[in-house]
Amino acid sequence: MRRADIFHISTINHLLLSAVVAFLLSGCTMIGLQDMKAVGERDFGPEERFCICMYKDDAVSDKRAEEIISAIKEEFEPFGIHVDVPWVRPWQRAGFTSREILEDIAYRPIEPPCDRLFVLVGRDFKDFLWGVLLPEMNGGVETHTMTKGFAVAEMGSINQILTLKNPKAISTHEIYHFLGCGHGLFADTCYDQILRIKVAARQNREAGRDFFPSINFDGRIFWTRSDVNRRFDRRQAKKAFPTGKGKQTYEDAS
Ligand SMILES: [Zn+2]
Repeated sequence: MRRADIFHISTINHLLLSAVVAFLLSGCTMIGLQDMKAVGERDFGPEERFCICMYKDDAVSDKRAEEIISAIKEEFEPFGIHVDVPWVRPWQRAGFTSREILEDIAYRPIEPPCDRLFVLVGRDFKDFLWGVLLPEMNGGVETHTMTKGFAVAEMGSINQILTLKNPKAISTHEIYHFLGCGHGLFADTCYDQILRIKVAARQNREAGRDFFPSINFDGRIFWTRSDVNRRFDRRQAKKAFPTGKGKQTYEDAS
């Protein structure tokens, strides 16, 4: 099944801000379903370094950020992926909707040594209302380059508690998207993808390019930071995230 087939419109958000059609996914099968036996039996090749640079909302404590970083490092170690977080910088919340948050992060250029940009988002009062009334966004990754994304890093809403989606699980889920994994039904599909991206990473490393490549929704490989940054040239801003039907993001709702 193509990844696009599992996209469907599940809600129309129309509270508080301008109407935004959100394309939600009907379940995040990767969360909590890692098949460690299968991982152990496969050869994921030599270890590759994967640098995730992070922005942190003031509302997210240092302790919480550290817990999330440790969980991510631990999650990807069995795949021979050594996650490094070169820096964590303060981040001002750009907007209320996941689209506004993603747009803000997507248009920030990736600079060495970062391979990906990830925001740890806090919660505010409006989120609380939102979480009570409607399915909420817990995280998301843009699918143009699969290099920019966010996770809500503070537990707080009723939805989040009811669905037992904790910030560590949400964050690691988004990092699977950074490796090119979609919302496949089987963990194996994701492991095949991890092997593919690691081969690309090794090729890049052996060619002397200091960048862990990305593979986007359409299977295109971005070999350099300039490739990624060109995709988010400001002149293309309007085209990148059009409102209405599209598959610009993986958005994870509870
Ligand atoms: Zn997802």
